[in-house]
Amino acid sequence: MEVETPHPRAAATGVAEQLDGRRLEGVEAIGKNLLLRFEGGLVLRSHLRMSGRWTVRARGAATGGRPWLVLRGGAREAVLWGGPVLELTARRVRGLGPDILARPPDLDAMVDAFRRADQRRAIGDALLDQRLVAGIGNLWKAEGLWRARVSPWRALGEVTDEELRNVLSQAAQLMRRSVDRGRQERAVYRAAGRPCPRCSTLIASRGQGEANRTAYWCPSCQPGPDPKRGVRGPDS
Ligand SMILES: [Zn+2]
Repeated sequence: MEVETPHPRAAATGVAEQLDGRRLEGVEAIGKNLLLRFEGGLVLRSHLRMSGRWTVRARGAATGGRPWLVLRGGAREAVLWGGPVLELTARRVRGLGPDILARPPDLDAMVDAFRRADQRRAIGDALLDQRLVAGIGNLWKAEGLWRARVSPWRALGEVTDEELRNVLSQAAQLMRRSVDRGRQERAVYRAAGRPCPRCSTLIASRGQGEANRTAYWCPSCQPGPDPKRGVRGPDS
């Protein structure tokens, strides 16, 4: 499933970043709420309010205007129009870590989960593991780590509980503000080669983890091991 959020306010939710490439497993309507269940336990809630509507059309059909959400399959695409609520949450299912968007997020349970994981694992890789914490996408991983001044390449065993908690708390706050207010605060995500807003060092980027998702970080504010020399994951 390809996911796009052409409308600027929808784009600010970061929903497309987290859902793109995931399989859509089911759709459920509850009143005017539509719950779209995606692979990995993520649930997208869209509330149509008064003005929202879904249309289905052939894949790639010409579009006028800016829909909130486009879910593109092999032959057809579903398009959501008009100012609805878009909220991404993680379904409580067996094997899934605590939900980063819970109110409030259970930071103690998250830190516990990270401590039970392989401590040789890089924190940037572990943050995307839905079994440890559910719902952090690549964007908020990068921004949470930058705010907490923690390198994505440090092994979990080298990261203190306090640092870990701070990373999770920063990611949770940024995501909550994004979902509630449609405000997306970005410092390093997709900013490779641009100056760090804090210290002006150029932002670095490199693929990380089994899925090779791109990590973004400031080598000065977020000191850590040089990824070129390799950080061993649990399976490497
Ligand atoms: Zn910096």
